[in-house]
Amino acid sequence: MKEYPVQKNQRLTVSIIDLTHEGMGVAKVDGYPLFIENSLPGEEVEVLVIKVGNKFGFAKVENWLTESPDRQPIKDVDLLRTGIAPLSHLSYEKQLEFKQEQVKNVMKKIAKMPDVPVYETLGMEKPFGYRNKAQIPVRRVDGELMTGFYRKNSHQMIAIDDYYIQDPAIDEAISVIRNILQRFDVRAYDEESHKGMLRHIIVRRGHYTHEMMVILVTRKEKFFKGDLIAETINKELPEVVSVIQNINEDKTNVILGKENRVLFGKDHMIDKLLGNTFRISPQSFFQVNTLQAEVLYQTAIDFADLKKSDVVIDAYSGIGTIGISLANQVKDVYGVEVTREAILDAQINAEKNHIDNAYYQVGKAEVVMKKWLEREINPTVIIVDPPRKGLAESFIQSAAETKAKKVVYISCNPATLARDLKLFQELGYKTEKIQPVDLFPQSYHTEAVALLVKEK
Ligand code: SAH
Repeated sequence: MKEYPVQKNQRLTVSIIDLTHEGMGVAKVDGYPLFIENSLPGEEVEVLVIKVGNKFGFAKVENWLTESPDRQPIKDVDLLRTGIAPLSHLSYEKQLEFKQEQVKNVMKKIAKMPDVPVYETLGMEKPFGYRNKAQIPVRRVDGELMTGFYRKNSHQMIAIDDYYIQDPAIDEAISVIRNILQRFDVRAYDEESHKGMLRHIIVRRGHYTHEMMVILVTRKEKFFKGDLIAETINKELPEVVSVIQNINEDKTNVILGKENRVLFGKDHMIDKLLGNTFRISPQSFFQVNTLQAEVLYQTAIDFADLKKSDVVIDAYSGIGTIGISLANQVKDVYGVEVTREAILDAQINAEKNHIDNAYYQVGKAEVVMKKWLEREINPTVIIVDPPRKGLAESFIQSAAETKAKKVVYISCNPATLARDLKLFQELGYKTEKIQPVDLFPQSYHTEAVALLVKEK
């Protein structure tokens, strides 16, 4: 058996020397890294080793011998344990610095562009209670329905009522809905046996409109008294304009299934962004932090420095939020998005906001981009907003072939952003500047907007 410098259940005193990009403190014992929740660089801590792996281990703090000046009082230690708010022990000012550093680091190490200016993260005045959406798993514990969150890397649920980062009206709604479901004797889904009914409660609430959508994710189609339950939800929560049953029959960690049924009200909800009205369907993506999404989009629009003659591609358009926000300033907008429901939303959203120069296409961005090239659509500005895995190489190649003057890259993952900026650089697009925007206060997730300009 291989010898490690530490053993499971060993107690030792260590110094924290670093913070991982997931917000764990790092200590080294004879070069062997230990990852330690709720610890910050500069702190001396007494820890208990809880897991010893091949290349690194995990420990938990039993006692702080010194505390970092950057520490802030933790609202609830379960927010760290569950990963709901994994940076909530770090002062907000330092969280913003941490995120700027994340971007600077990848620009150095992955993109090999240490000189690109990375600005200070734009943060929130009130960095909590911001989430407009919650996806809460439901379990049965001692005959009662329980809502909360899983302990990190486990299936052990911790009951939570105050989620801190969610709109408090959503927290409230979750308990009300849970209690209604309890009264109707709805059984919670059980992962192990793949039995039971209710898997997740999802609540979305419009920041501006206060319209609420409730999605009940069930294992089976047949939902006894589903309509009555939905009506009761609306009665007790008058903001609810839509109750949807989503059916997910699979044994999977993926939350939503493919099929939706309206149990009460509309099949969508409405909210606003930068003064425009948007319809949001259950399957469609919508930024979870409305106020900061506005800051993000405005930054992207400012970076694009648009002219009336511009032809803009809005790739990964979702329900059309970005393209519709700028359509009035340009000649044409072409949007592409892989989720059909979202594209239908985008088309209706363009109409709702009296936009008649935005054209939407469902499909993979990398495929549709090629088709647009063949059709000789000549964009002058390309805006991309991909998911965490970033852009497909073929998308970047097609984008470069269009000879667009500018690319504005909105990213929720600094590592793939840096990888993609490097490829753009090789194809003649220089990264001019990057602006991180904090969409996820108290969490390590880092969002940033980069401006790329075609070199002469
Ligand atoms: N710009 C939108 C959505 C951004 S989220 C907004 O700000 O609201 C990223 C979007 O990319 C999601 O809607 C997702 O469905 C979509 N997507 C994921 N992979 C894609 C691909 N290969 N091609 C096109 N769209 C994709």
